[in-house]
Amino acid sequence: MSNPLQNHVSQIAEQAQALSIEEVISQLVKQFPGKVTFSTSFSYEDQLITHKILTNNFPVSIFTLDTGRLFEETYSVWSATNERYHTKIRAYYPDHNLLEPYVAEHGPNSFYESVEERKTCCYFRKVEPLKRALKDKSVWITGLRAEHSASRHDMPQVEWDESNQIIKYHPILHWTTKEVKDYINEFNIPYNILHDRGFVSIGCAPCTRAIKPGEDFRAGRWWWEDNTKKECGLHVHQQAS
Ligand code: SF4
Repeated sequence: MSNPLQNHVSQIAEQAQALSIEEVISQLVKQFPGKVTFSTSFSYEDQLITHKILTNNFPVSIFTLDTGRLFEETYSVWSATNERYHTKIRAYYPDHNLLEPYVAEHGPNSFYESVEERKTCCYFRKVEPLKRALKDKSVWITGLRAEHSASRHDMPQVEWDESNQIIKYHPILHWTTKEVKDYINEFNIPYNILHDRGFVSIGCAPCTRAIKPGEDFRAGRWWWEDNTKKECGLHVHQQAS
């Protein structure tokens, strides 16, 4: 049986075409009170959306996934964001009942060894906590941008997420990197200094790297299988060349 939430997708997509981001979010929180959430990994894109949500006092819950493998710089921008906006961004952590026996058996760095190990690591540290974060929500706002992945060029700005049974809204899907940076600078928004060192996507420290000038955006989010990128929910992974 299909989820009745799905029936709202086309109407929200029409609004997203015609209205500003602020107007769309304002409509969403009225239509789905207490059921709109935003996931942040504290990237440029996420910081821009966090700014829009918090400066407008939109009742949107903001969460992050603390995988236990994040960069120190990510914790710094998380703290700076809490301070700047007088907020407390909630973190979801891996379920210790899953992770502890896994690490005890496989060791802390088993994800270096195989695709299967990486899938398991991502499931315990990201996918399962994400499902808990999205449970009972109706709309999931993300900071995805088309520039970061060829497969996103035809992605709709509003879509139905079958696996999480939720409406997804990608407000800055078609913004350029320059537009995002200009916005961050204009409003003096705290951002992750790893962006200044060539990082595009900033996820787990062992699985993210800086890119060289001119290198494809996706090279910074390394490894998955057969050089085929896979989405785990928040980040894209690609095998190192
Ligand atoms: Fe594990 Fe890497 Fe996935 Fe992070 S991105 S959960 S370290 S495999």
